[in-house]
Order: sequence, then structure tokens, then C-alpha cells
Amino acid sequence: KSKFPLKEMLNRELTQLSETSRSGNQVSEFIASTILQKQHDVEILSAACKEEKKRRPMSQISGVRKLSPSPSLPPTCTPRFGVNTQHESLLAEELEDINRWGIDIFKIAEFSGNRPLTVIMYTIFQERDLLKTFKIPSDTFLTFLMTLEDHYHVDMAYHNNTHAADVVQSTHVLLSTPALEDVFTDLEIMAALFASAIHDVDHPGLSNQFLINTNSELALMYNDASVLENHHLAVGFKLLQEENCDIFCNLSKKQRQSLRQMTIDMVLATDMSKHMNFLADLKTLVETKKVTSLGVLLLDNYSDRIQVLQNMVHCADLSNPTKPLELYRQWTDRIMVELFRQGDRERDKGIDISPMCDKHTASVEKSQVGFIDYIVHPLWETWADLVHPDAQDILDTLEDNREWYQSMIPRSPSPTPKEQDSRATLGIAGSAGEKFQFELTLEEEDGELEAEEEHTDKDRSSTMMDPRHAQTSPRGVAPVLDSRERELDQEATSVSILQLET
Ligand SMILES: [Zn+2]
Repeated sequence: KSKFPLKEMLNRELTQLSETSRSGNQVSEFIASTILQKQHDVEILSAACKEEKKRRPMSQISGVRKLSPSPSLPPTCTPRFGVNTQHESLLAEELEDINRWGIDIFKIAEFSGNRPLTVIMYTIFQERDLLKTFKIPSDTFLTFLMTLEDHYHVDMAYHNNTHAADVVQSTHVLLSTPALEDVFTDLEIMAALFASAIHDVDHPGLSNQFLINTNSELALMYNDASVLENHHLAVGFKLLQEENCDIFCNLSKKQRQSLRQMTIDMVLATDMSKHMNFLADLKTLVETKKVTSLGVLLLDNYSDRIQVLQNMVHCADLSNPTKPLELYRQWTDRIMVELFRQGDRERDKGIDISPMCDKHTASVEKSQVGFIDYIVHPLWETWADLVHPDAQDILDTLEDNREWYQSMIPRSPSPTPKEQDSRATLGIAGSAGEKFQFELTLEEEDGELEAEEEHTDKDRSSTMMDPRHAQTSPRGVAPVLDSRERELDQEATSVSILQLET
């Protein structure tokens, strides 16, 4: 009997899906490569190793740059939102929505002179009175925020300061959900916001798998394990040591330790390859959910509390499809630009192009539908159960957005009866707009599941490759195919996403 019933079920269903048609196969690969840890089936090509230059010794955290004398700040007076801008009143108008799901973060980026992270963090910390509670000097706070913001790459289409600001603001709203009222301490709240703020800092716009396959310095540094997430944490904490950047200087030693541990736990939980584990645990938590006499969640131990916070930040990180459609679409455009850039690099290096990264063959709309059906909706549905009925509107928006992307899939020959059958079996909503029925439910567990899963990485052996496909595209061997075969092969492997929106 499997120790991973959730994964096995998903596996079974995706295998079925992949057998129905080529497009089914594409979606299945996209899901698989997103949330399951890869098998060690990729042989590294020596050509790939050259580009990463040896610049810094391993003893240093790369990515911390010396910046020209700290971002312009008037020493005496602090601007209303922490940054100098000519559009302060427009900014003020947008920031009135600070407590709402679906704030226009792009406008905030524009009106703040590309300082959305600083402005959002400053506004939320004021709103929650955290500067006073933890005696954070505001000049230190702003110096840290701008330094942090500068360590997000400006030329990154998706994983930039605006994404960080978006995740912070989403976490802020989730923290205020009625079912969690007064559940978390100020220290936990600050940790969740801090974790959100640093969670993608110095992101190079490449996936963990790419970094591993190319023997990058970062992959070496972190032994291929949650490479990016470990790096974001290291940089985030390292920046606290820059001049006038220690925003936690007035915390007690115990508070600092606790905040650090929670932050590490939360940021590591944004690694998409851990998604299934966290979802399984969240489902267990929902099943055994206890509420207080006040009707809020009862979380009486660290493990339960951090688990809710980890899933909260993970939800915030995967919240694009739950936002108003015009925002969601902008995020999709951005992630595609970034993925195609990686695909171009892979093409140049002559290595396999990661699923969804080939600009010539990617199916954007289909992959969004698959991403929602298999990853985002199951997660948000479970979160909605946890905080019922607080997240109903979010879930409704998600389902509407899914229908929109579904309707935008370019028309192709109508599905075969076999394909329709399979969709019905899986409970995947069709274009007719039936309700979502796809559920990942836990089977009977042998109690050791969690413990085992934490300590071993057996799930690496999960296999989801369509065996037929594995035959046509032997990994690790430079494929020698004629151009027609190559085209077919690329189409089959193109739709999957590594590190989508993390
Ligand atoms: Zn992210």
C-alpha cells in the first residue's frame, strides 16, 4: 500500500488523461513537472556547464550587491507612503484598497515610481501598527525595504518587485480573514508579511530544474534542494545586515529566533515541488478542524499554526488566477515572457526545452486551465474549506476566470467520445461550465504518512511520464530526429511549467 495516496491518485488520473489525446498529454506533463519532483532522468550536457562563470566563492551568498549610496531618502521627513513620488494623490487613491482582494498592484507600481514593495509593506505595517509594536525605526524600515526591492531584478517580467508586493498584499488580506481573527500573534503576522516580501528576492527567472541541469553555482550551493527558495531566504536575511537595515533590532533574542524559523518554514513552502505534501497536510487539518467558542479556528500547537501560515503564503503566491481577470491576464502574459526567455536559453544551449517554455509551441490558455484544475483550484478549495465561508468570492472569481481561459482555447476538432468520457470521469469541467468536481481526497492513511514524508524524499520516484513519450524522446541523449519528428516531440513536451508563479 502506497504511502502517498494523494500522489498516487493524481498520478493515476493524469496518466489516464495523458492517454486520451495529445492535448491531454500536454496538460498532464504540465501538471507533473510543476508539482512533482523530477526523477533523475536528465543527463547533463557538457555544453550547458560553460556559461555560469565562477565569480564568487561558495562561502558567500551571491546576489547581495553593493548599491550606490542608499536610495534617496530625505533624512528628516518621511513621505506619506515612504517614497518620493509625483503621483502621491493617485497613489493614495489606489492604496485605499489596501485591505481588498484584487487591489491594482500594477497601478501602485506605476504611481510609486516602481516602488510597489516598499509602499505596500510600509502601508501595511502602519495599518497593523507593527512599527510601534516592534519598535522598528521608520528610516531603518524604509532603508531595508528599498534595499530589498532593489534586489529584485528590474528586467524580470514576472519574478520582480511587483510580484513580491502582490504576494505581501494578498497575505495581508488572508491574515484578516474572519475565521482567523485574533488567531495569530503580531510576531507571526510580521513573519508572514516579511516572508512574503523576501520570498522571491534575486530571482534569476530560471527554474530550479534549469539551475540544477546546468550545474549552476546556486544548485551546487544548495545541493539541488529547493535551490531558489533557499537562496531567497539567504539573501533576504543577509540584507538585514546591511547598514541601517536591521528592522528587527529591537526584538528579543527569542523573538528573532522564532521569526527566523517561521520565515524559513514559509519561504521553503513556496517550492512548488512540495505542493502535494502541503495540500495533503492541509486537507488533514481541515478534516480535523476545531473552532473556538468564538467561531475562529483553534490552532493550539506550532505545527498547526505554521502549517496554516505556510499554506497561506503558498495560496498568496498562487493567487493570480483568483484575481480580477484583467490583473490575472497581465500576470499570465508576464510569466510567459519569463518562461519563453528560459526556453530561448535552453534552445541556445542545445538542451531540452522545458515544458511550456517553447514560444513556438506553448499553449497558454490550455495550460492555465490545467494549472487551475489540478493545482490552483484544489488548493484554494481546501483553503476555502478551512476558512469557510470567507473565501467564497475568491473561489467564484477563480471559477469564472477558468471558464474564460477555457473559452479562449483556440478551436480544434471537437473531442473524441473517448476524450469526453475521460473528462467526465475526472470531473473536469467542460466548456459548458459544469461545476468543478475534481477533488483530491485522502484515502485511509497509515498514520506514519506525515512523518515518513518529511524525512525521506521517496516521492522523487513518482513517475508520471507517459511511457510512450519516454520512448520517443529519450532523456539525456541528444535527440536525433528528423524535423517532423522533432516538431511532434516538442509539441508533446511543450506544455508544462516548472516553477510557475512561485
Ligand atoms: Zn512567488
